[in-house]
Amino acid sequence: MTTQRRAEISGAGFAGLVAATALAQRGWSVRVHEKNAELRTEGAGIVLWENSLKVIEALGALPDLFANSMTPPFYETRSNNVSVSAEPIEGFRWRTMTRAHLYGTLLTAAREAGVEVVANSKVTAATGDGTITFDGGEQAQADLIIGADGVGSAVRDSMGFSFSRERSRDGITRFLVPRRKAELLELEPDTEWDNVIDFWNSEPRTLRVLYVPANDDELYIALMSPAADADGSRVPIDLDLWTSIFPQLAPVLRDAANTPGRYYGYQTTRLDRWTSDRVAVVGDAAHAMCPALAQGAGCAMVNAYTLAEAADVASSAELAGALETWERLERPFTDRCQDRSQRFADTRSMALGNQFVGENNETSLYDITDSHRHDLAGQHA
Ligand SMILES: Cc1cc2nc3c(=O)[nH]c(=O)nc-3n(C[C@H](O)[C@H](O)[C@H](O)COP(=O)(O)OP(=O)(O)OC[C@H]3O[C@@H](n4cnc5c(N)ncnc54)[C@H](O)[C@@H]3O)c2cc1C
Repeated sequence: MTTQRRAEISGAGFAGLVAATALAQRGWSVRVHEKNAELRTEGAGIVLWENSLKVIEALGALPDLFANSMTPPFYETRSNNVSVSAEPIEGFRWRTMTRAHLYGTLLTAAREAGVEVVANSKVTAATGDGTITFDGGEQAQADLIIGADGVGSAVRDSMGFSFSRERSRDGITRFLVPRRKAELLELEPDTEWDNVIDFWNSEPRTLRVLYVPANDDELYIALMSPAADADGSRVPIDLDLWTSIFPQLAPVLRDAANTPGRYYGYQTTRLDRWTSDRVAVVGDAAHAMCPALAQGAGCAMVNAYTLAEAADVASSAELAGALETWERLERPFTDRCQDRSQRFADTRSMALGNQFVGENNETSLYDITDSHRHDLAGQHA
């Protein structure tokens, strides 16, 4: 007879829920601690690619996800309102949706797998022997502790994992608004308003609207401006400014002006290590990245899933070594995605279009079901 192994996870975000579900489906007893009173995600919409869709498929949750998400016909890029590319994204799946829908899908999968998700439960520390400490001072013991607690990770910091942080010069405010397709068509009848459209503007100032249909009714728009541009980064948004640059988006910008939001400056964090003894960090706690390639959550889910797999096949005595091996094999792919995303953010070269080609697709194509996937590790570096 084997005793059931136990995992304690800090953070009920995308990474925490995926790791929890994958472990519970393998027979582990799993508790996820969320510091907030409400189980929900920040932000508005999200784009997922083949790599994370494979993870959700492996968890058995793809039908739920597909029930209220879509694949737009093209990923179009405009520069100063001239269309520079319309990419059909061939060869791998991609999907747009609201964050609430993705979160609900993962939370349901976790609960169905028997995961206990505890709200109002703030983790303050972890130690390598498998002890987790909560806000009130109480402690619990586990075979595995996962820090999936985002950019401000308490698990990471209490373990003394050191890291560098590179902040981007631009930031984004995200909104979920009604589609208003008929009104947009009236303004621009020739535009395919089901496309993702990345509207870049460089003259007279740098402003960008990423237009992402999330389903039949809801539109995700992300408004990007340099942090140094006080008017561009103001929330509520400066409606006159944004409509003067993007007049064809006036109906949805008006909705955005009446929707609460937060200007969010993004960052790249690189840790000296992701694991120590019985503790691993994953997701933004380990590898926050600029959203240029829309892969932060994708990498978080891939790494959370492969972490669970690696922990499960190791015996208790082998666990620390198995976590180190997991980091060694998986990390180079995430490192390269971080580098590319940072480069795109630094150069703003996504405004040139045609970005879903060649090595930029390495992350999207990463296949957790392919046992030979590590053979190429390092070759793109
Ligand atoms: C503008 C923008 C657009 C993006 N677009 C995309 C996209 O299209 N596609 C994509 O793949 N990625 C995208 N990302 C990245 C993605 O949002 C993140 O990488 C992803 O949400 C990280 O998930 P996570 O679970 O690691 O962390 P989080 O989502 O931050 O979750 C961490 C959770 O832990 C909880 N927590 C924190 N501290 C504690 C504690 N001490 N105790 C207990 N709980 C705690 C938090 O409350 C939170 O619920 C985008 C990011 C930005 C900023």
